[in-house]
Amino acid sequence: MPKVILTGDRPTGRLHVGHYAGSLKERVKLQNSGIYDKIFIMIADAQALTDNAEQPEKVRQNIIEVALDYLSCGLSPDLSTLLIQSQIPELCELSFYYMNLVTVSRLQRNPTVKSEIQMRNFEASIPVGFFTYPISQAADITAFKATTVPVGEDQLPMIEQTREIVRKFNTIYGDVLVEPDVLLPDNKACLRLPGIDGKAKMSKSLNNCIYLSDTEEEVRKKVMSMFTDPNHLQVSDPGQVEGNPVFIYLDAFCKEEMFAEYLPEYANLEELKAHYTRGGLGDVKVKKFLNKVLQEELAPIRSKRKEWEKDIPAVYEILRKGSMAAREVAAQTLDDVKKAMKINYFDDQALITEQSEKYHS
Ligand code: ATP
Ligand code: MG
Repeated sequence: MPKVILTGDRPTGRLHVGHYAGSLKERVKLQNSGIYDKIFIMIADAQALTDNAEQPEKVRQNIIEVALDYLSCGLSPDLSTLLIQSQIPELCELSFYYMNLVTVSRLQRNPTVKSEIQMRNFEASIPVGFFTYPISQAADITAFKATTVPVGEDQLPMIEQTREIVRKFNTIYGDVLVEPDVLLPDNKACLRLPGIDGKAKMSKSLNNCIYLSDTEEEVRKKVMSMFTDPNHLQVSDPGQVEGNPVFIYLDAFCKEEMFAEYLPEYANLEELKAHYTRGGLGDVKVKKFLNKVLQEELAPIRSKRKEWEKDIPAVYEILRKGSMAAREVAAQTLDDVKKAMKINYFDDQALITEQSEKYHS
């Protein structure tokens, strides 16, 4: 079976270091590893509209932002297919049939949907499209017969939902769909990067992000304003590193050789953490180091973005070509699905013969 990746992002804003840690960095690595036969990276505009129906312009404006972030991180149109979800109508048709395989109570139990409903104050009136987005996500994944979905931890319940749909479909109609596996980052800190405000997840919707396209000065300001251990008031106080976003970011991004360059008093992160825990190490010093670490990671991304920004029509052209290529793959899967469901009436000569015999024998 070919090894296929499908993953993507909602164009509800520019991408942030949470996306980068949780999924984007891994995608680029997987792309460059050469071990995958096909890689599909989707800008999920239709999904973004499920909770942004009244802000279509926000979604429209952010498509190019996400595409620029992709290209500046090293996703390459030569190695990956970059596509826009709404340009693949076959995905809607697949969703429509999958809806029959999922119950309302199963969707209500999905913990990610639950917390997202809460976050958006949708408790009283959830848009139907938003409520059913895990089903449309199953269509996205299965349309490309993806075997591997590299995502952050928050997406686990979504992939489980997809796997259930695949199993149910294949049991009823025959083996057509591929059950995907999740690929989570190995680094625990990257599973769900917290916000600069200390909230559990850095998220566009929570306004607590460091964006990949932030300027050097913006990144510095955000790092210096970060939430840390609220009980670490004086430099001499012992501090807590667990759950402290500054240290979580260091876990996610710091490489040992960066100490020699920016903070030679410490050999590695363990020593820095030990000092903080004992007391006598101030937040400002740690934040200054984190700023250096992040700037080193983000500077090449920023400068690559500047290059791509000079030719926006070329970026749209990449998305157009990618969407066309992706559509062919999705159309083939839809054909397979309809054939398995036996709703391909006009291609089904056996059915036509059977019915005509019924009336003429
Ligand atoms: P929204 O608030 O619009 O849902 P988001 O910031 O949650 O935006 P998505 O587009 O929903 O971003 O997520 C895209 C991908 O990035 C998913 O694979 C998700 O798991 C991953 N991701 C998003 N935020 C984080 C984070 N803070 N840490 C790790 N991974 C993340
Ligand atoms: Mg999200």
